[in-house]
Amino acid sequence: MTKKLYYEDAYATGFEAVVVSCEEKAIEDKAVKEQIEGAETVVYQVVLDQTLFFPEEGGQSPDKGVIGTANVLDVQIKNDIITHIVDKPFCVGETVRGMIDWKHRFSNMQQHSGEHIFSGTVNRLYGYDNVGFHLSDNIVTMDFNGVLTEEDVVRVEELVNEAIVKNLPIIVTYPTKEELANMEYRSKIEILGQVRIVNVEGVDVCACCAPHVKRTGEIGMLKVMSVQNHRGGVRISMLCGFRALEAFREKSAIITKLMDSLTVSQELLPDRVEKLKASNQDYKYRLAMSKQKLLEIKMTEIPNEQENVFLFEQDIESTVMRNVVNKLTAEHSGVCGVFVGNDEAGYSFIIGSVNVDCTQIGMLLREKTGAKCGGKKPMIQGSVQASEEILKAVLLDF
Ligand SMILES: [Zn+2]
Repeated sequence: MTKKLYYEDAYATGFEAVVVSCEEKAIEDKAVKEQIEGAETVVYQVVLDQTLFFPEEGGQSPDKGVIGTANVLDVQIKNDIITHIVDKPFCVGETVRGMIDWKHRFSNMQQHSGEHIFSGTVNRLYGYDNVGFHLSDNIVTMDFNGVLTEEDVVRVEELVNEAIVKNLPIIVTYPTKEELANMEYRSKIEILGQVRIVNVEGVDVCACCAPHVKRTGEIGMLKVMSVQNHRGGVRISMLCGFRALEAFREKSAIITKLMDSLTVSQELLPDRVEKLKASNQDYKYRLAMSKQKLLEIKMTEIPNEQENVFLFEQDIESTVMRNVVNKLTAEHSGVCGVFVGNDEAGYSFIIGSVNVDCTQIGMLLREKTGAKCGGKKPMIQGSVQASEEILKAVLLDF
């Protein structure tokens, strides 16, 4: 059993320990592989007599840092034994010095303490439980087994930030079985061994295995980032402390960029974007109409006695393509086709005829150019990766 130093002092960053075991291991875990891409293909599983490294547990990603000069890539716990996955080997019995990445750990403490206050407040006001917590470097989410409206979420967010401003103490206790039996707390499940209770004074009491900040003020702030319906309840994504500040910076930068680009104030941005979308739709429609008119003019220039007609166009809508082929086949007795695209990207095409079996042309195109197409005798459609020159030569053979 590894002695968990993070329970003695959640704020300690360095520690000394003795290596209990060190085993070489081929990397199987994809995430670990990605982290040390280009490095060794083997890692080492190191067990120490004690550690400050909090493992992946209770939905929270593990601590980062170093042991000696080895990078700690992952930390796992099984049967109360904590295994550090590192990129350099150690000798059994040797004394090592470990150092956790404090910025990373403190951020996790801020997120996790914030989550307790949020979940406790939801539980108190609406009776829902947090049935899924996920805290990684990229995202913090909580799943509740009941629906919260937008107003509910704002109300909880407000209350959580009030609790943060009050700078309430967060106290960890280890009650006896008898004390626990008479205690009201969240995450009340039958577990073997000592239960660890995290109490945010007057706000929340919850069983938890993770390190927390000492006072709520250290959380800084909590901001809900999104709310989604999830398995009959909601999944709420939120950020606390410096992560919330970072997200605010990112959003501010995006808004400032958009304001500069559209020369409009922040409040008028949504309206301006809606107007741009509407005028874009309008332009698209008018452009399609103009293209069709242009094609119609082109079509009048083709002599009626010409039997086969093949048009090559850069970019027209598929509905326009079909209209054009229908108009061509009404006036020309042979085979009429429209090819849309360019020599590099290839062409999509529709070919039709009143008198000729178009499936025969389909076969010819498949055979000579590898075209993919299907359809019936009067009309076929498909796509082909070939140049206009080659296509015209093949079609001339027909
Ligand atoms: Zn917790």
